[in-house]
Amino acid sequence: MSLVIAENLVKDYRTGDVVVHAIRGVDFTIDPASFVCFVGPSGSGKSTLLNMIGCLDPPTTGRLSVSGTDVTTLGHHAAAAFRGEHIGFVFQDFNLVPVLTAYENVEYPLIMVQKWSPQSRRERVQSLLTAAGIADQADKRPDQLSGGQKQRVAVARALVTNPKLVLADEPTANLDRSTALRIIELMRQLRDEFGTTFVFSTHDPKIMAEAEVTFVLEDGHLRRQTREEVESHE
Ligand code: ADP
Ligand code: MG
Repeated sequence: MSLVIAENLVKDYRTGDVVVHAIRGVDFTIDPASFVCFVGPSGSGKSTLLNMIGCLDPPTTGRLSVSGTDVTTLGHHAAAAFRGEHIGFVFQDFNLVPVLTAYENVEYPLIMVQKWSPQSRRERVQSLLTAAGIADQADKRPDQLSGGQKQRVAVARALVTNPKLVLADEPTANLDRSTALRIIELMRQLRDEFGTTFVFSTHDPKIMAEAEVTFVLEDGHLRRQTREEVESHE
């Protein structure tokens, strides 16, 4: 069964009398344990789409199912609970808590969930820091880390609650090209190791070539990229 199913998904933003048609009726599915990219220029609707999949903002119309749950009708509190259990997020500007160490940033989502004992929490945080290649930086605060290291901490934090789905909105936008490619490679490794589905967005065609499945957004319309098109960018 697909992890994400979108049918005729529409998102309009209304500010006063002005309506922006951000997403104009798109259909797609995302398989479990897949590695998927949404690519498109600035303003094409990438963040809008990821925010809907992440239950941060509901669609205007259409059907959207995540992990077998119809998320279009979830209220504010139900959506927050659903996110906490099923979805991890990685952001362009890392969004780490500046006063916490790398270790404490990764531990933070577990403290929100009652079921973890201090001992199991320690083991879980340690294993994610190791998996993300950042265990030797555990005691450093974000301002003592490079951009690539910060994003590794953010990836570890996104995975620490073992969500089925991780959404990363332009996770490489603030990184240089080679660091960006290493972060994408890390996400793919973690997909292989844990079976987590990774969905990321980018405006960089070279980064998109790293995904198994690529969807192209143009003015709120979506199409699946063919293998030939991807290879023409390599
Ligand atoms: P991308 O992430 O690809 O740059 P976005 O999803 O942010 O694109 O934006 C898609 C379109 O929707 C743009 O025209 C943008 O200006 C508009 N938009 C995004 N968020 C809002 C909002 N909260 N209110 C009004 N318009 C918005
Ligand atoms: Mg965006």
